[in-house]
Amino acid sequence: METIDLTALRNFSRRTGQPTHPELLDARPIEHVSKIEIDEEHVTIEYNEKTTRYYNVNEITKNEWIYKYNDDPEFVAAVAQVIALARKHLKELPDTIACPPGCAECCSGYEPFVTQADVRRIAEHLGMSDEAVMHEYVVARPSADGHYVGWLRKVSDDLADQCVFLMGDKSGRFYCGIYAARPGDCREFTPIGCQDVDESLSHSSKFKVGPAFQPRHKRRARNGRRN
Ligand code: SF4
Ligand code: SF4
Repeated sequence: METIDLTALRNFSRRTGQPTHPELLDARPIEHVSKIEIDEEHVTIEYNEKTTRYYNVNEITKNEWIYKYNDDPEFVAAVAQVIALARKHLKELPDTIACPPGCAECCSGYEPFVTQADVRRIAEHLGMSDEAVMHEYVVARPSADGHYVGWLRKVSDDLADQCVFLMGDKSGRFYCGIYAARPGDCREFTPIGCQDVDESLSHSSKFKVGPAFQPRHKRRARNGRRN
């Protein structure tokens, strides 16, 4: 376990009377910290960022907590230690909170929105026209600003069902069948704070993905050659 020497903070407390003991501090502002910025005079912390997704607009609200430290060297040194430690652990994030291999719970229940550029990329990847991709794999619902053209279909009409491109087997492990061409929405999806993780899967296990998704016309042609 890593600890921080809080002597500098305690000295600060003693000299200024401002509480630095964790129990005396109002720590609510840092419970959901999204960003910390430091300049010569201020520590600015953004927290409780709330993103409301409308179909074509992201409305973001956030709170800010600004501390003016007036060039107090002890306080600056203490804050620098905390930030150095946070940065160190941030670097470890991909190992400690990456998705367990084979988990794809988020590929069910969510409907990734697609742009025209996503459709183009998927069409090129599958060797199809944009129109065919729209017809077969996209529920067309253009957004008011024209940015999105719709969302990816599910394997059934049930929106909680799995994405049409999700591949997997009886082992309960899944993978994206168009990974290199997946929509921007899927690329931006982060496991940080994910509540849907399949807890039966181990982070350390290895999972070799199977064949890529094949569109119907290619499957038919392949089966025809076999017969
Ligand atoms: S395109 Fe791939 S990553 Fe995106 S929801 Fe479908 S299976 Fe998951
Ligand atoms: S851990 Fe969460 S974000 Fe990662 S694949 Fe599973 S459901 Fe998706």
